[in-house]
Amino acid sequence: MYKAPVDEIAFTLKHVAGMAGALESGALGDLGEDLVDAILSEAGRFATEEVAPLGDVGDRQGSRLVDGKVQTPDGWRDLYHNWIGGGWNGLTAPEEFGGQNLPHMLHVAAMEMWNAGSMAFALGPTLTMGAVDALEKHGSEALKATYLPKMVSGEWTGTMNLTEPHAGSDLGVLKTRAERRDDGTYRIFGQKIFITWGEHDFTDNIVHLVLARLPDAPAGTRGISLFLVPKFLVNADGSLGERNDLFCHSLEHKLGIHGSPTCTMIYGDGKFGAEKGAIGYLIGEENRGLACMFTMMNNARLAVGMQGVAIADAATQKAIAFAKERTQGKAPGWSGQGMSPIIEHPDVARMLLTMKALTQGSRAIAYACAHAVDMGHATDGDKARHWQERSSLLTPIAKSFATDAGVDVASLGIQVHGGMGFIEETGAARYLRDARIAPIYEGTNGIQAIDLVTRKLPLSGGEHVRGFIAELREIGTAVRASNRGGFGDTAARLDAALDDLSDATEWLLAAVSAGKLTEALAGATAYQRLFGLALTGVYLAKGGLAEASDGKDEQRIALSRFAAENMLAETSALKDRVVTGADSLAAARAVLG
Ligand SMILES: Cc1cc2nc3c(=O)[nH]c(=O)nc-3n(C[C@H](O)[C@H](O)[C@H](O)COP(=O)(O)OP(=O)(O)OC[C@H]3O[C@@H](n4cnc5c(N)ncnc54)[C@H](O)[C@@H]3O)c2cc1C
Repeated sequence: MYKAPVDEIAFTLKHVAGMAGALESGALGDLGEDLVDAILSEAGRFATEEVAPLGDVGDRQGSRLVDGKVQTPDGWRDLYHNWIGGGWNGLTAPEEFGGQNLPHMLHVAAMEMWNAGSMAFALGPTLTMGAVDALEKHGSEALKATYLPKMVSGEWTGTMNLTEPHAGSDLGVLKTRAERRDDGTYRIFGQKIFITWGEHDFTDNIVHLVLARLPDAPAGTRGISLFLVPKFLVNADGSLGERNDLFCHSLEHKLGIHGSPTCTMIYGDGKFGAEKGAIGYLIGEENRGLACMFTMMNNARLAVGMQGVAIADAATQKAIAFAKERTQGKAPGWSGQGMSPIIEHPDVARMLLTMKALTQGSRAIAYACAHAVDMGHATDGDKARHWQERSSLLTPIAKSFATDAGVDVASLGIQVHGGMGFIEETGAARYLRDARIAPIYEGTNGIQAIDLVTRKLPLSGGEHVRGFIAELREIGTAVRASNRGGFGDTAARLDAALDDLSDATEWLLAAVSAGKLTEALAGATAYQRLFGLALTGVYLAKGGLAEASDGKDEQRIALSRFAAENMLAETSALKDRVVTGADSLAAARAVLG
């Protein structure tokens, strides 16, 4: 069973991602280390003792649509109410709406633990928090006053309705229609698919944020507006009024996250209410809906990255426990009685260490991204711009590298289990099934790579990414200067990985500025992975350095060395794919017909 690694999480936050410095400098207000530790410890307890035990039930039972109503798995409704009872839903939300206004770093750490307990469960609150974010930044005062306190407390949940059958990655072609009404409201008509937690039995009301197009809107992404469309209308006194004209038509049958209802939503079918059309309230300005969505997109993408870290950690814990128990054969040098535990076999140890390194690397990248978000809020002027650029740059890497790690690590976890890994009762298979969606939703990892190469690298004319790589090089220098033998060849391997990153970055910057997009995009995914791997090497070493200075048993140094000497050589192949892969890709295109 998953046990939240609270100490590891706290260490990474403080000594790798930058929280210790932020606390010391006062950038996080009067937040102190004691409170940080207390929050992490309680979030970890909740994840371990309350969420994780219900993860399997959710997977086996799934959410079901019965007579138009979604029934969630046994125990999940109570779990949700215990969770909001702990105040967790409003961790980062503004105090004026009942939130606790705590830093994003704490939020992502807590999200990691709940997602590891059950990703399908934690996904609901993730969507609510995204909706709170969008409403808080763009909603009118009246909308905020009516909806935010209940969404922040978790009394009502929120959803994001973007996708339609023909409009997924390209939202510019969406067809859901909005019509203006004389009273300033709108009527919404259309179908949305794949809407996470679009209907459920946790709460009395569900607040849908829906992208739709006005009749006179310009074509494409500049003609999309964002609407708040509640399941039940809200009376002036805050009580629930009439049922709005929307419903969940069906649930998808999915590979994983079975507990999370993935709904087809129908708006304006005339099923409810005297007049056809779901009543919607504009958020922000007409035709500026996608821009509203984009302001919360970074946080939502990072939240999905946390799902990858979470699954990777849970899968690693399970595999290590299994490998210590399961005995087969005799490992070279084994001197114990009978067969050796499989963890003694070098190949199994290799798999487990790879799992650990990918988990800790992606955790560090995601937390560093959250640190940049917090610093962007805590500073102003040039400093704020610096941190905003840093979080913008890190977001696609955190989302894609961590969610790919979730899949890779869960798959390795099955391999460690052998045949039992393929059998559902061990639970190793669930991790892979659940993990598989994360590289797809909230912008596929391919779309993240395009964003990284075409929008993030050119920030400040390429100077931001160059400055970042220069900062990363300082860790290699510090490793060398530390003279710790346990680091082995780490410093030289970091230098080589960062040379690859730098070369690939310069090549892409030149290609993008010369308008050679086909060439640049052919290698975008390889570049994204190269960046994530190089960061993994650097952040593991940074953790090792922090450990070295407080004189512990050098486990972090050993893991850092393992990653540097066993995993970082891949950066050279990835650079090669970025710099030389485009021509052969274009030439082979005809093979596909
Ligand atoms: C379980 C689940 C939950 C979801 N929850 C929600 C939700 O709550 N709300 C919501 O609105 N949506 C939700 N989605 C939808 C999800 O966000 C989309 O599936 C995702 O954005 C991809 O869109 P698509 O499925 O149409 O794939 P497509 O856009 O058709 O993509 C197919 C493939 O083509 C690639 N591709 C597409 N365009 C480009 C391009 N321009 N350049 C390069 N490659 C490209 C993609 O990377 C992908 O590999 C959910 C989906 C699932 C399965």
